[in-house]
Amino acid sequence: MKTLKELQDGKTTSRALTKACLARGEALDSSLHAFLHVDESAPERASQVDKESPLAGLPIAVKDILMVEGMPATCGSKILEGFMPPFTATSVKKLQDAGAVIIGKTNTDEFAMGSSTENSAYGVTHNPWNLDRVPGGSSGGSAAAVAAGIVPAALGTDTGGSIRQPASFCGISGIKPTYGRVSRYGLAAYGSSLDSVGILGRSVDDLIPLFEVMVGKDPLDATTVDAPSITRKLSAESLVGTRIGVPAEYFVKGIQAEVEERVREAIKMLKMLGAEIIPINLPHTEYALPVYYILAPAEASANLARYDGIRYTPREGEKSLEDVYRQTRGKHFGAEVERRIMLGTYALSAGYYDAYYGQAQKVRTLIRRDFEEAFKNVDAIAAPIAPTTAFEIGSHGDDPLAMYLEDIFTLPANLAGVPGLALPVGFDGDNMPIGMQLMGAPFSEENLFAIGRAYQGATDWHKEKPNIG
Ligand code: GLN
Repeated sequence: MKTLKELQDGKTTSRALTKACLARGEALDSSLHAFLHVDESAPERASQVDKESPLAGLPIAVKDILMVEGMPATCGSKILEGFMPPFTATSVKKLQDAGAVIIGKTNTDEFAMGSSTENSAYGVTHNPWNLDRVPGGSSGGSAAAVAAGIVPAALGTDTGGSIRQPASFCGISGIKPTYGRVSRYGLAAYGSSLDSVGILGRSVDDLIPLFEVMVGKDPLDATTVDAPSITRKLSAESLVGTRIGVPAEYFVKGIQAEVEERVREAIKMLKMLGAEIIPINLPHTEYALPVYYILAPAEASANLARYDGIRYTPREGEKSLEDVYRQTRGKHFGAEVERRIMLGTYALSAGYYDAYYGQAQKVRTLIRRDFEEAFKNVDAIAAPIAPTTAFEIGSHGDDPLAMYLEDIFTLPANLAGVPGLALPVGFDGDNMPIGMQLMGAPFSEENLFAIGRAYQGATDWHKEKPNIG
């Protein structure tokens, strides 16, 4: 990473860089609204960071669904307004211990439920490439902050696409790690069997130093493991011998023509770099959307039960305990969160459990097996991230189904627990960015990075910047 190297070589100081990030944020954020909280004391903390530490005082931003001690955490929801977490998420703590400086918290759809940041209770974030368009979601604030050059990297979370899709919409890179590779401790839970914490940055090179610090077993998250060594190590210098699968199910009717064209061109480039391109099938892809929109709300309905006005502020109602629950939740949860709680509660209810939740779990296994089969023959799978480029703010407002359809290509990786790397691969006719994802077998992020680096070594899409400020 260029910025990190400059810090390590003493060409700049963490304090100067942190101040510059804050100044750029101040100049641009009135039009972007990428931040929910900015820490004005960041430059002071920056001056105390040890230059010799691995991240040497690198300033970064954190999605406001991860806990950072000393900074408010809202999760984009009114129900957590004013909440100050007394602890820091493991992923963030590891970065801080390695010398990163957190400059603020970024906007998100309420509890990470959404694909546009329009569900944030604190207002939408605008796409730096076109302020009338959404930045994607739910990590839209982090994506916009990176794309606008406010921070060199930012943390996001991906339960069904929320790192890859905003990366695609904002023309940057992003990694959604293997489930269990990065600790979820200190992440407000949405769909616990799907949630993963990852990174957004301009290029693959910007992701790697943070990724290396964040991974590993955490005693505070029983689903984490130390990564076993991957079976086939790929070279970043040449893609000769690398097998890349292209799934027919991801190039379907309804996808924006330019998205398909740019992704196919990117795949051609991988071939020119020496990769072998292999057509494959992931036969259960079409079920990912219904399966996800049963399982994720089911898990969310349980996870969100804790926001009841008892332990967290604010509290409404006083007649009875039920009155407190009803009024607090009714008043402070947004419409999408309420919709998910109702969907999830219904899917888990005694009469319907087998028909919906039980069935969805079985189909999830079939989706995972599709990937297991595919990875017997290929090292990575290349596919579009979203069927369209960034849409206009408000255009999906009263149509939740249209919004859910945006996730069609990202959900399978979460259901299967596999990693996904987002890479910018070009633009549409309106100059809106287009992304491609590389999915890999569990714990093969290093291979995805190698392929991504080879691609970015041969192309300049990751160097394109929006014309903003
Ligand atoms: N858009 C998907 C949802 O609303 C994914 C969100 C996410 O990855 N956090 O559930």
